[in-house]
Amino acid sequence: MIRTALTARWIVGHAEGSHQLYKNGTVVVQGSEVLFVGHHFDGEVQQTIDFGNAMIGPGFIDLDALADLDTTVLGYDNYPPELKGRVWPQSYMDAGPREMYTPEELAFQKRYAFTRLIRNGITTALPIASLFYRAWGETVAEFNAAAEAAADLGLRVYLGPAYRSGNLVVGQNRKIAPYYDEPRGFAGLDDAAAFIDRHENTHSGLIRTMLAPDRIETSTPELLRRSGAVARDRDVPIRLHCCQSQVEYDLVVQQHGKSPLELLRDVDFFTSKTILPHGLFLSGINGITFDAPDTEILTESGASVAHCPLVMARSGKVMRSFQRFRKLGINIGMGTDTHPADMIQNMAVGMMTARIADDAPSSVRAADYYDAATIGGADALNRPDLGRLAAGSAADLNVIRLDNPALGQVIDPIQTILLNGAGRDVSDVMIAGQFVMRNCVIPDVDARDYQARAQMQFDRMVAQYPDRTLFHPPVDEIFPASYPVK
Ligand SMILES: [Zn+2]
Repeated sequence: MIRTALTARWIVGHAEGSHQLYKNGTVVVQGSEVLFVGHHFDGEVQQTIDFGNAMIGPGFIDLDALADLDTTVLGYDNYPPELKGRVWPQSYMDAGPREMYTPEELAFQKRYAFTRLIRNGITTALPIASLFYRAWGETVAEFNAAAEAAADLGLRVYLGPAYRSGNLVVGQNRKIAPYYDEPRGFAGLDDAAAFIDRHENTHSGLIRTMLAPDRIETSTPELLRRSGAVARDRDVPIRLHCCQSQVEYDLVVQQHGKSPLELLRDVDFFTSKTILPHGLFLSGINGITFDAPDTEILTESGASVAHCPLVMARSGKVMRSFQRFRKLGINIGMGTDTHPADMIQNMAVGMMTARIADDAPSSVRAADYYDAATIGGADALNRPDLGRLAAGSAADLNVIRLDNPALGQVIDPIQTILLNGAGRDVSDVMIAGQFVMRNCVIPDVDARDYQARAQMQFDRMVAQYPDRTLFHPPVDEIFPASYPVK
Protein backbone atom coordinates (compact mmCIF):
# COMPACT_ATOMS: atom_id res chain seq x y z
CA MET A 1 0.00 0.00 0.00
CA ILE A 2 1.21 3.48 -0.89
CA ARG A 3 2.50 5.56 1.99
CA THR A 4 2.36 9.34 1.83
CA ALA A 5 4.11 11.63 4.28
CA LEU A 6 2.50 15.03 4.91
CA THR A 7 4.63 17.63 6.64
CA ALA A 8 3.90 21.13 7.93
CA ARG A 9 4.99 23.74 10.46
CA TRP A 10 2.32 22.38 12.82
CA ILE A 11 0.60 19.01 13.14
CA VAL A 12 -2.25 18.37 15.54
CA GLY A 13 -1.71 14.77 16.56
CA HIS A 14 -3.37 12.82 19.32
CA ALA A 15 -1.65 10.98 22.15
CA GLU A 16 -2.16 10.32 25.85
CA GLY A 17 -5.86 11.17 25.66
CA SER A 18 -5.67 14.61 24.06
CA HIS A 19 -4.58 16.57 21.01
CA GLN A 20 -0.86 17.42 20.90
CA LEU A 21 0.92 20.03 18.82
CA TYR A 22 3.92 18.74 16.87
CA LYS A 23 6.13 21.52 15.60
CA ASN A 24 7.58 20.69 12.17
CA GLY A 25 5.85 17.33 12.33
CA THR A 26 4.87 14.56 9.95
CA VAL A 27 1.70 12.59 9.34
CA VAL A 28 2.12 9.37 7.40
CA VAL A 29 -0.99 8.10 5.64
CA GLN A 30 -1.27 4.52 4.43
CA GLY A 31 -4.42 3.59 2.53
CA SER A 32 -7.38 5.10 4.33
CA GLU A 33 -5.65 5.33 7.70
CA VAL A 34 -3.03 7.26 9.57
CA LEU A 35 0.08 5.18 10.13
CA PHE A 36 2.19 7.64 12.09
CA VAL A 37 2.10 11.12 13.64
CA GLY A 38 5.21 12.67 15.14
CA HIS A 39 8.63 13.99 14.23
CA HIS A 40 10.68 11.22 12.72
CA PHE A 41 9.23 8.38 10.70
CA ASP A 42 11.80 5.68 10.09
CA GLY A 43 9.90 3.65 7.50
CA GLU A 44 9.78 4.11 3.76
CA VAL A 45 7.32 6.46 2.08
CA GLN A 46 6.47 6.70 -1.63
CA GLN A 47 5.82 10.42 -1.63
CA THR A 48 6.17 13.44 0.64
CA ILE A 49 4.04 16.57 0.46
CA ASP A 50 5.30 19.54 2.42
CA PHE A 51 2.61 22.10 3.25
CA GLY A 52 5.10 24.57 4.73
CA ASN A 53 3.68 27.25 6.99
CA ALA A 54 0.37 25.57 7.68
CA MET A 55 -1.38 23.42 10.27
CA ILE A 56 -2.49 19.88 9.51
CA GLY A 57 -5.21 18.77 11.88
CA PRO A 58 -8.07 16.31 12.11
CA GLY A 59 -11.03 17.12 9.84
CA PHE A 60 -13.97 18.84 11.47
CA ILE A 61 -17.09 16.87 12.38
CA ASP A 62 -20.30 18.73 11.66
CA LEU A 63 -23.26 17.29 13.57
CA ASP A 64 -25.76 19.69 12.00
CA ALA A 65 -24.44 20.40 8.54
CA LEU A 66 -26.50 22.62 6.26
CA ALA A 67 -27.58 20.51 3.27
CA ASP A 68 -29.82 22.88 1.37
CA LEU A 69 -29.74 26.49 0.21
CA ASP A 70 -29.16 29.00 2.95
CA THR A 71 -32.46 30.44 4.06
CA THR A 72 -31.39 31.93 7.38
CA VAL A 73 -30.46 34.93 5.25
CA LEU A 74 -34.21 35.51 4.84
CA GLY A 75 -34.70 35.71 8.58
CA TYR A 76 -31.68 37.84 9.36
CA ASP A 77 -33.47 41.20 9.52
CA ASN A 78 -37.04 40.00 9.24
CA TYR A 79 -39.26 39.34 12.24
CA PRO A 80 -41.58 38.01 13.58
CA PRO A 81 -41.34 34.62 11.83
CA GLU A 82 -45.12 34.09 11.58
CA LEU A 83 -45.47 37.31 9.54
CA LYS A 84 -42.41 36.62 7.42
CA GLY A 85 -43.44 33.30 5.94
CA ARG A 86 -41.52 31.11 8.36
CA VAL A 87 -44.65 29.50 9.77
CA TRP A 88 -47.17 28.02 7.34
CA PRO A 89 -50.50 29.87 7.30
CA GLN A 90 -53.54 27.69 7.95
CA SER A 91 -54.75 28.47 4.41
CA TYR A 92 -51.55 27.00 2.91
CA MET A 93 -51.87 23.91 5.10
CA ASP A 94 -55.52 23.48 4.07
CA ALA A 95 -54.68 23.84 0.38
CA GLY A 96 -52.16 20.98 0.77
CA PRO A 97 -48.52 22.00 1.12
CA ARG A 98 -46.37 21.42 -1.94
CA GLU A 99 -42.74 20.70 -2.71
CA MET A 100 -41.08 23.98 -3.55
CA TYR A 101 -38.13 22.32 -5.27
CA THR A 102 -37.98 19.76 -8.04
CA PRO A 103 -36.21 16.41 -7.40
CA GLU A 104 -33.32 17.66 -9.57
CA GLU A 105 -33.04 20.83 -7.52
CA LEU A 106 -33.00 18.84 -4.28
CA ALA A 107 -30.30 16.51 -5.59
CA PHE A 108 -28.24 19.51 -6.70
CA GLN A 109 -28.66 21.23 -3.33
CA LYS A 110 -27.14 18.27 -1.50
CA ARG A 111 -24.18 18.15 -3.83
CA TYR A 112 -23.71 21.92 -3.67
CA ALA A 113 -23.91 21.94 0.14
CA PHE A 114 -21.45 19.05 0.39
CA THR A 115 -18.91 21.03 -1.63
CA ARG A 116 -19.28 23.94 0.80
CA LEU A 117 -18.62 21.60 3.74
CA ILE A 118 -15.49 20.21 2.14
CA ARG A 119 -14.34 23.73 1.27
CA ASN A 120 -14.46 24.54 4.99
CA GLY A 121 -12.48 21.53 6.13
CA ILE A 122 -15.42 19.44 7.31
CA THR A 123 -14.75 15.75 6.76
CA THR A 124 -17.75 14.15 8.51
CA ALA A 125 -21.22 15.60 8.09
CA LEU A 126 -24.70 14.88 9.39
CA PRO A 127 -26.84 16.88 6.94
CA ILE A 128 -29.73 19.04 8.06
CA ALA A 129 -32.21 20.92 5.89
CA SER A 130 -35.29 22.98 6.48
CA LEU A 131 -38.56 21.10 6.03
CA PHE A 132 -40.25 24.42 5.62
CA TYR A 133 -39.93 24.22 1.83
CA ARG A 134 -41.09 20.66 1.59
CA ALA A 135 -44.48 19.09 1.11
CA TRP A 136 -43.78 17.23 4.36
CA GLY A 137 -40.60 15.26 5.09
CA GLU A 138 -37.42 14.66 3.13
CA THR A 139 -37.65 11.97 0.48
CA VAL A 140 -35.78 8.73 0.07
CA ALA A 141 -35.06 9.71 -3.55
CA GLU A 142 -33.18 12.84 -2.56
CA PHE A 143 -31.20 10.88 0.02
CA ASN A 144 -30.32 8.22 -2.51
CA ALA A 145 -28.97 11.13 -4.55
CA ALA A 146 -27.22 12.51 -1.48
CA ALA A 147 -25.46 9.19 -0.91
CA GLU A 148 -24.25 9.23 -4.52
CA ALA A 149 -23.07 12.84 -4.24
CA ALA A 150 -21.20 12.22 -0.98
CA ALA A 151 -19.55 9.07 -2.34
CA ASP A 152 -18.65 10.89 -5.54
CA LEU A 153 -17.11 13.86 -3.70
CA GLY A 154 -15.52 11.59 -1.09
CA LEU A 155 -17.29 13.19 1.89
CA ARG A 156 -17.92 11.05 4.99
CA VAL A 157 -21.59 11.35 5.92
CA TYR A 158 -24.31 10.03 8.15
CA LEU A 159 -27.52 10.20 6.13
CA GLY A 160 -31.19 9.81 6.95
CA PRO A 161 -34.26 11.50 5.49
CA ALA A 162 -35.93 13.76 8.06
CA TYR A 163 -39.51 12.85 8.97
CA ARG A 164 -42.19 14.25 11.22
CA SER A 165 -45.74 13.74 12.39
CA GLY A 166 -46.58 17.38 12.81
CA ASN A 167 -46.05 20.93 11.78
CA LEU A 168 -46.75 24.41 13.10
CA VAL A 169 -49.36 26.60 11.47
CA VAL A 170 -50.42 30.17 12.05
CA GLY A 171 -54.06 31.27 11.91
CA GLN A 172 -55.57 34.63 10.89
CA ASN A 173 -55.39 35.62 14.57
CA ARG A 174 -51.56 35.20 14.38
CA LYS A 175 -51.68 32.35 16.91
CA ILE A 176 -49.23 29.52 16.27
CA ALA A 177 -50.62 26.02 16.79
CA PRO A 178 -49.46 22.50 16.00
CA TYR A 179 -51.06 20.36 13.32
CA TYR A 180 -50.59 16.57 13.42
CA ASP A 181 -50.76 13.75 10.92
CA GLU A 182 -49.32 10.84 12.87
CA PRO A 183 -49.63 8.12 10.19
CA ARG A 184 -47.52 10.30 7.92
CA GLY A 185 -44.85 10.38 10.62
CA PHE A 186 -44.88 6.59 10.99
CA ALA A 187 -44.59 6.19 7.22
CA GLY A 188 -41.59 8.55 7.29
CA LEU A 189 -39.96 6.45 10.01
CA ASP A 190 -40.54 3.27 7.98
CA ASP A 191 -38.89 4.89 4.96
CA ALA A 192 -35.98 6.06 7.11
CA ALA A 193 -35.50 2.53 8.52
CA ALA A 194 -35.50 1.08 4.99
CA PHE A 195 -32.96 3.72 3.97
CA ILE A 196 -30.70 2.60 6.82
CA ASP A 197 -30.97 -1.03 5.75
CA ARG A 198 -30.02 -0.13 2.20
CA HIS A 199 -27.21 2.37 2.75
CA GLU A 200 -25.57 1.69 6.11
CA ASN A 201 -21.84 1.22 5.82
CA THR A 202 -21.66 1.38 2.04
CA HIS A 203 -18.96 2.89 -0.20
CA SER A 204 -16.16 1.45 1.96
CA GLY A 205 -17.78 2.83 5.08
CA LEU A 206 -17.88 6.43 3.83
CA ILE A 207 -21.67 6.36 3.84
CA ARG A 208 -23.25 5.69 7.19
CA THR A 209 -26.82 6.31 8.25
CA MET A 210 -28.80 7.91 11.02
CA LEU A 211 -32.34 8.66 12.12
CA ALA A 212 -33.48 12.27 11.82
CA PRO A 213 -36.88 12.90 13.36
CA ASP A 214 -37.27 16.59 12.62
CA ARG A 215 -38.05 18.45 15.84
CA ILE A 216 -39.57 17.59 19.17
CA GLU A 217 -42.56 19.89 18.65
CA THR A 218 -43.30 18.31 15.27
CA SER A 219 -43.13 14.75 16.62
CA THR A 220 -45.86 12.92 18.52
CA PRO A 221 -44.75 10.99 21.63
CA GLU A 222 -45.40 7.67 19.86
CA LEU A 223 -43.21 8.69 16.91
CA LEU A 224 -40.43 9.58 19.35
CA ARG A 225 -40.83 6.28 21.19
CA ARG A 226 -40.69 4.24 17.97
CA SER A 227 -37.74 6.29 16.70
CA GLY A 228 -35.69 5.57 19.81
CA ALA A 229 -36.47 1.85 19.43
CA VAL A 230 -35.44 1.78 15.74
CA ALA A 231 -32.21 3.70 16.49
CA ARG A 232 -31.29 1.17 19.17
CA ASP A 233 -32.24 -1.77 16.96
CA ARG A 234 -30.17 -0.51 13.99
CA ASP A 235 -27.47 0.94 16.26
CA VAL A 236 -27.36 4.25 14.38
CA PRO A 237 -27.16 7.82 15.72
CA ILE A 238 -30.42 9.66 16.23
CA ARG A 239 -30.71 13.43 16.05
CA LEU A 240 -33.61 15.58 17.17
CA HIS A 241 -33.87 19.34 17.37
CA CYS A 242 -34.81 20.04 20.95
CA CYS A 243 -34.37 22.77 23.58
CA GLN A 244 -34.06 25.17 20.66
CA SER A 245 -36.71 27.82 21.29
CA GLN A 246 -39.14 29.20 23.81
CA VAL A 247 -42.03 28.48 21.41
CA GLU A 248 -40.99 24.81 21.27
CA TYR A 249 -40.61 24.52 25.04
CA ASP A 250 -44.00 26.13 25.67
CA LEU A 251 -45.74 23.96 23.07
CA VAL A 252 -44.37 20.76 24.61
CA VAL A 253 -45.39 21.85 28.12
CA GLN A 254 -48.86 22.87 26.92
CA GLN A 255 -49.52 19.59 25.17
CA HIS A 256 -47.82 17.11 27.46
CA GLY A 257 -47.55 18.84 30.83
CA LYS A 258 -43.83 18.16 30.88
CA SER A 259 -40.64 19.64 29.52
CA PRO A 260 -39.07 18.51 26.22
CA LEU A 261 -36.39 16.50 28.04
CA GLU A 262 -38.93 14.94 30.40
CA LEU A 263 -40.93 13.89 27.36
CA LEU A 264 -37.87 12.29 25.73
CA ARG A 265 -37.02 10.45 28.95
CA ASP A 266 -40.60 9.21 29.40
CA VAL A 267 -40.90 7.83 25.86
CA ASP A 268 -37.52 6.08 26.17
CA PHE A 269 -36.06 8.12 23.33
CA PHE A 270 -32.42 8.21 24.41
CA THR A 271 -29.84 5.87 22.95
CA SER A 272 -26.07 5.71 23.29
CA LYS A 273 -25.80 7.99 20.23
CA THR A 274 -28.40 10.71 20.73
CA ILE A 275 -27.57 14.12 19.30
CA LEU A 276 -29.59 17.13 20.35
CA PRO A 277 -29.21 20.49 18.62
CA HIS A 278 -29.16 23.12 20.30
CA GLY A 279 -29.35 22.87 24.10
CA LEU A 280 -30.40 26.48 24.69
CA PHE A 281 -33.71 26.24 26.53
CA LEU A 282 -33.68 24.08 29.64
CA SER A 283 -35.49 24.72 32.89
CA GLY A 284 -33.87 27.69 34.61
CA ILE A 285 -31.97 28.72 31.49
CA ASN A 286 -32.75 31.46 28.94
CA GLY A 287 -35.95 32.51 30.66
CA ILE A 288 -37.58 29.08 31.11
CA THR A 289 -39.38 29.12 34.45
CA PHE A 290 -41.09 25.71 34.13
CA ASP A 291 -39.97 23.46 36.96
CA ALA A 292 -38.33 20.35 35.49
CA PRO A 293 -35.05 18.49 36.11
CA ASP A 294 -33.85 19.22 32.57
CA THR A 295 -30.15 19.50 33.29
CA GLU A 296 -30.13 16.25 35.28
CA ILE A 297 -32.02 14.43 32.53
CA LEU A 298 -29.61 15.71 29.89
CA THR A 299 -26.62 14.66 31.99
CA GLU A 300 -27.98 11.18 32.69
CA SER A 301 -29.19 10.60 29.14
CA GLY A 302 -25.68 10.42 27.73
CA ALA A 303 -26.91 12.56 24.83
CA SER A 304 -24.56 14.92 23.07
CA VAL A 305 -25.41 18.53 22.43
CA ALA A 306 -24.83 19.79 18.89
CA HIS A 307 -23.66 23.32 19.59
CA CYS A 308 -24.28 25.75 16.70
CA PRO A 309 -23.23 29.12 18.09
CA LEU A 310 -23.16 31.10 14.83
CA VAL A 311 -26.74 30.47 13.73
CA MET A 312 -28.00 30.99 17.27
CA ALA A 313 -26.05 34.17 17.92
CA ARG A 314 -27.50 35.59 14.71
CA SER A 315 -30.91 35.47 16.36
CA GLY A 316 -29.58 36.69 19.68
CA LYS A 317 -29.50 33.32 21.44
CA VAL A 318 -26.70 31.94 23.59
CA MET A 319 -26.10 28.49 25.09
CA ARG A 320 -25.75 28.71 28.89
CA SER A 321 -23.27 27.47 28.95
CA PHE A 322 -20.47 25.60 27.26
CA GLN A 323 -18.41 25.48 30.43
CA ARG A 324 -21.36 24.47 32.60
CA PHE A 325 -22.32 21.58 30.32
CA ARG A 326 -18.74 20.39 30.17
CA LYS A 327 -18.48 20.44 33.96
CA LEU A 328 -21.63 18.33 34.12
CA GLY A 329 -20.00 15.79 31.83
CA ILE A 330 -22.29 16.53 28.88
CA ASN A 331 -20.55 15.89 25.57
CA ILE A 332 -20.56 18.86 23.19
CA GLY A 333 -20.03 18.52 19.46
CA MET A 334 -20.32 21.30 16.91
CA GLY A 335 -22.72 22.01 14.09
CA THR A 336 -22.60 24.76 11.49
CA ASP A 337 -26.34 24.60 10.67
CA THR A 338 -26.19 27.61 8.37
CA HIS A 339 -24.21 29.20 5.59
CA PRO A 340 -21.28 29.64 5.66
CA ALA A 341 -20.41 26.10 6.76
CA ASP A 342 -17.44 27.73 8.42
CA MET A 343 -16.43 25.71 11.46
CA ILE A 344 -13.67 28.17 12.29
CA GLN A 345 -16.13 31.06 12.42
CA ASN A 346 -18.43 28.87 14.51
CA MET A 347 -15.67 28.17 17.00
CA ALA A 348 -14.77 31.87 17.14
CA VAL A 349 -18.37 32.99 17.74
CA GLY A 350 -18.74 30.12 20.20
CA MET A 351 -15.77 31.39 22.21
CA MET A 352 -17.18 34.90 22.36
CA THR A 353 -20.73 33.88 23.25
CA ALA A 354 -19.55 31.35 25.84
CA ARG A 355 -17.55 34.07 27.57
CA ILE A 356 -20.53 36.41 27.43
CA ALA A 357 -22.79 33.67 28.81
CA ASP A 358 -20.50 33.08 31.78
CA ASP A 359 -19.43 36.69 32.10
CA ALA A 360 -15.92 35.32 32.41
CA PRO A 361 -13.20 35.37 29.75
CA SER A 362 -11.51 32.42 31.41
CA SER A 363 -14.53 30.16 31.06
CA VAL A 364 -13.40 28.59 27.77
CA ARG A 365 -10.15 28.20 25.87
CA ALA A 366 -9.57 27.90 22.14
CA ALA A 367 -8.63 24.27 22.66
CA ASP A 368 -12.04 23.55 24.24
CA TYR A 369 -13.72 24.59 21.00
CA TYR A 370 -11.22 22.77 18.80
CA ASP A 371 -11.90 19.66 20.89
CA ALA A 372 -15.65 20.07 20.41
CA ALA A 373 -15.30 20.41 16.62
CA THR A 374 -13.20 17.25 16.44
CA ILE A 375 -13.27 14.83 19.39
CA GLY A 376 -16.67 15.99 20.66
CA GLY A 377 -18.25 15.13 17.32
CA ALA A 378 -16.49 11.78 17.18
CA ASP A 379 -17.64 10.92 20.70
CA ALA A 380 -21.23 11.82 19.79
CA LEU A 381 -21.01 9.24 17.00
CA ASN A 382 -19.03 6.78 19.11
CA ARG A 383 -16.22 6.87 16.54
CA PRO A 384 -12.84 6.68 18.28
CA ASP A 385 -11.24 6.52 14.82
CA LEU A 386 -12.45 10.02 13.90
CA GLY A 387 -11.71 13.53 15.15
CA ARG A 388 -8.05 12.84 15.88
CA LEU A 389 -4.83 11.99 14.10
CA ALA A 390 -3.03 9.01 15.58
CA ALA A 391 -1.80 5.65 14.31
CA GLY A 392 -4.87 3.66 13.31
CA SER A 393 -7.27 6.58 13.05
CA ALA A 394 -9.02 7.46 9.80
CA ALA A 395 -6.94 9.66 7.49
CA ASP A 396 -9.48 12.51 7.66
CA LEU A 397 -7.63 15.81 7.90
CA ASN A 398 -7.56 19.42 6.83
CA VAL A 399 -4.73 21.81 6.08
CA ILE A 400 -5.15 25.38 7.31
CA ARG A 401 -2.78 28.00 5.92
CA LEU A 402 -0.87 30.11 8.42
CA ASP A 403 0.91 32.25 5.81
CA ASN A 404 -2.11 34.33 4.81
CA PRO A 405 -1.35 37.99 5.73
CA ALA A 406 -4.90 38.27 7.10
CA LEU A 407 -3.87 35.97 9.96
CA GLY A 408 -1.64 38.61 11.51
CA GLN A 409 0.85 37.43 14.03
CA VAL A 410 0.88 33.77 14.89
CA ILE A 411 1.09 32.96 18.59
CA ASP A 412 -0.02 29.39 18.62
CA PRO A 413 -1.79 27.84 15.64
CA ILE A 414 -5.08 26.99 17.36
CA GLN A 415 -5.49 30.35 19.10
CA THR A 416 -4.42 32.25 15.99
CA ILE A 417 -6.89 30.39 13.77
CA LEU A 418 -9.76 31.08 16.17
CA LEU A 419 -8.75 34.72 16.51
CA ASN A 420 -8.04 35.61 12.90
CA GLY A 421 -8.80 32.65 10.71
CA ALA A 422 -11.79 31.59 8.63
CA GLY A 423 -12.93 28.57 6.69
CA ARG A 424 -11.40 30.22 3.61
CA ASP A 425 -7.96 29.50 5.05
CA VAL A 426 -8.50 25.76 4.60
CA SER A 427 -6.51 24.80 1.52
CA ASP A 428 -6.52 21.01 1.41
CA VAL A 429 -8.80 18.29 2.71
CA MET A 430 -8.23 14.55 2.88
CA ILE A 431 -10.92 12.02 3.76
CA ALA A 432 -10.21 8.30 4.17
CA GLY A 433 -6.76 8.85 2.71
CA GLN A 434 -8.01 10.59 -0.47
CA PHE A 435 -7.55 14.26 -1.23
CA VAL A 436 -11.04 15.65 -1.81
CA MET A 437 -9.68 19.19 -2.15
CA ARG A 438 -6.22 20.30 -3.26
CA ASN A 439 -5.07 23.92 -3.20
CA CYS A 440 -8.66 25.08 -2.60
CA VAL A 441 -9.96 23.18 -5.63
CA ILE A 442 -12.48 20.35 -5.44
CA PRO A 443 -11.97 18.11 -8.47
CA ASP A 444 -14.68 18.36 -11.16
CA VAL A 445 -16.55 21.09 -9.27
CA ASP A 446 -17.00 24.52 -10.85
CA ALA A 447 -17.73 26.54 -7.71
CA ARG A 448 -18.92 29.59 -9.67
CA ASP A 449 -21.33 27.53 -11.74
CA TYR A 450 -22.66 25.90 -8.54
CA GLN A 451 -23.08 29.32 -7.00
CA ALA A 452 -25.05 30.62 -9.98
CA ARG A 453 -27.33 27.57 -10.01
CA ALA A 454 -27.95 27.85 -6.28
CA GLN A 455 -28.82 31.53 -6.61
CA MET A 456 -31.28 30.77 -9.42
CA GLN A 457 -33.05 28.16 -7.29
CA PHE A 458 -33.07 30.54 -4.37
CA ASP A 459 -34.63 33.39 -6.40
CA ARG A 460 -37.33 31.08 -7.70
CA MET A 461 -38.09 29.90 -4.16
CA VAL A 462 -38.23 33.45 -2.74
CA ALA A 463 -40.70 34.47 -5.46
CA GLN A 464 -43.09 31.84 -4.07
CA TYR A 465 -43.14 33.36 -0.59
CA PRO A 466 -46.26 35.59 -0.77
CA ASP A 467 -48.45 32.57 -1.39
CA ARG A 468 -47.12 30.94 1.77
CA THR A 469 -47.00 33.96 4.03
CA LEU A 470 -49.79 35.09 6.35
CA PHE A 471 -51.89 37.86 4.71
CA HIS A 472 -49.88 37.33 1.47
CA PRO A 473 -47.82 40.54 1.33
CA PRO A 474 -45.55 41.06 -1.71
CA VAL A 475 -41.94 39.87 -1.56
CA ASP A 476 -40.46 43.33 -0.97
CA GLU A 477 -42.68 43.76 2.09
CA ILE A 478 -41.76 40.37 3.53
CA PHE A 479 -38.06 41.03 2.95
CA PRO A 480 -37.57 44.80 2.81
CA ALA A 481 -34.24 46.17 1.60
CA SER A 482 -31.77 47.56 4.14
CA TYR A 483 -32.23 51.05 2.66
CA PRO A 484 -34.71 52.42 0.15
CA VAL A 485 -33.80 51.08 -3.27
CA LYS A 486 -33.63 53.92 -5.83
ZN1 LIG B 1 -30.47 23.44 13.83
